[in-house]
Amino acid sequence: MASAETRCPECESDLDLDGYDLDEGETINCPECSVPLKVTSLDPLTVTTEED
Ligand SMILES: [Zn+2]
Repeated sequence: MASAETRCPECESDLDLDGYDLDEGETINCPECSVPLKVTSLDPLTVTTEED
């Protein structure tokens, strides 16, 4: 099972996304700072901020 925990690159809060149905390329919003985060990898879970 892939870990569904990562860190927001914007506010550095821990993101516990266990239970979310995520796909690579999907964009989510950080629950803490609401920045859009693009899922670039699922194993390990990696997100990046979208600047454009
Ligand atoms: Zn954040």
